[in-house]
Amino acid sequence: MKHTRRNCDHCGKVYNADMRNVKRGWGLCCSKSCAAKKREAAKPGYTPERVEANNIRRAAWWGVDENEYGVYRGRRSSEGYKLYQDGDMDTAVDEFGNAVYTIANWEHEHPFSEDSF
Ligand SMILES: [Zn+2]
Repeated sequence: MKHTRRNCDHCGKVYNADMRNVKRGWGLCCSKSCAAKKREAAKPGYTPERVEANNIRRAAWWGVDENEYGVYRGRRSSEGYKLYQDGDMDTAVDEFGNAVYTIANWEHEHPFSEDSF
């Protein structure tokens, strides 16, 4: 896989980007969280305060636990991390709110496989 060193579009940090993704206009940020913030910043009328207010309002309205990685639906990884779902991707988030890893939903083991018998 061919990589190129580039600066993150959001935070400016140098990271290794996959050339194939960059050519397709993907992978322009160092992390999923920067990509989410960049998306948010691209919206008209963006201010950090408004993003914060929207996040709080969403959480209050839906009664859900949500962050920039997705929505927590009561599932945890085998390590005990909360899994925030965004489409078909889950991000494991530790108790400090930091993403530990991102994984496709279908890569998870069946939740009952260990305790069924
Ligand atoms: Zn970044």
